[in-house]
Amino acid sequence: MSAPMPIPFVSQSDPAAVASWLQALRAAMPEEEIIAFSELDEDQRAQCRVAIVANPDPAQLKLLPQLQWVHSVWAGVERLVADLGQSDLQITRLVDPRLAATMAEAVLAWTLYLHRDMPHYARQQQARQWRPLDYVLPEQRRVAILGLGALGEAAAVALRQARFPVLGWSRSARNVPDVRTCSGMDGLAEMLAQTDILVCLLPLTAETRGLLDAVRLALLPPQAQLINFARGPIINDEALREALDAGRLRHAVLDVFATEPLPPEAWPWSHPAVTVLPHCSAPTDSGTASAIVAANIRRYRNTGEIAANVDLKRGY
Ligand code: NDP
Repeated sequence: MSAPMPIPFVSQSDPAAVASWLQALRAAMPEEEIIAFSELDEDQRAQCRVAIVANPDPAQLKLLPQLQWVHSVWAGVERLVADLGQSDLQITRLVDPRLAATMAEAVLAWTLYLHRDMPHYARQQQARQWRPLDYVLPEQRRVAILGLGALGEAAAVALRQARFPVLGWSRSARNVPDVRTCSGMDGLAEMLAQTDILVCLLPLTAETRGLLDAVRLALLPPQAQLINFARGPIINDEALREALDAGRLRHAVLDVFATEPLPPEAWPWSHPAVTVLPHCSAPTDSGTASAIVAANIRRYRNTGEIAANVDLKRGY
């Protein structure tokens, strides 16, 4: 049986990544005709109602006159929101329990890295210093998570299992077992003042851009530490550098940056209180992601229902 319309895969990724996505998507929905955008002919473009995307060129999406629905294989959608915000398109982003588990593992790993003072011991080794620090129990190390969505909640659960007291902040009120949650700007200020390790898992939106500025970073207790696994521009770069230079912040683990790859001349590379990671905290699993996209597309084929989960006005 031939599919009612082809589904383009629209992406600015390199050809090897595009080929690998096409293979995973076709394996997950053999009943569909999934075609790289560049391979579509004029007639096929005119039929497409759904596009699967990974960082698409918005100009290519505009060449699909019947397009209704854009399904991303990525979790972060700030570029899609910026590019498609004025359109009537429905947008679905990836919500994948495998991705959440991978992120939760990363948050736990790098929280333990900071909790057990690994950057400090690495520096001591370089200086051939034999000097144990006082041991701090996880119960005495307060970890706060900005963003209690699919990823933040999974991270909170993993941290609770490791016995850290966990605080969490979101836009609307959230209930996570054994986690002290709060929302709103007053809630944020109160939470920052009680945070030893701050983990950022917010989407980048008009509201969260520059959220961690000099004033908010100064609310953290002296020697607090920071993990940013969300998006670079949520933290004001200069304010972060000043707080680290002054020793008010003890260490920052940064996986995400305003410009990626991080340019060789960028200050975080050589700052002694920064660990630079190459946006690797939670890579998408193309197998599980494709299975989720396939299930959403099958539902659409069977019922006409579009599993949109991005609010263009809210920005995430
Ligand atoms: P969700 O949309 O599920 O969760 C976002 C959370 O942030 C929600 O709790 C939301 O509040 C909260 N939030 C949003 N805006 C505000 C605000 N203005 N004030 C307070 N809280 C706010 O997203 P995910 O958990 O799936 O992903 C989070 C981000 O992680 C992605 O947007 C992406 O940028 C990043 N990411 C990074 C990866 C990496 O490898 N480094 C991999 C994958 C994603 P509410 O609950 O009220 O809606």
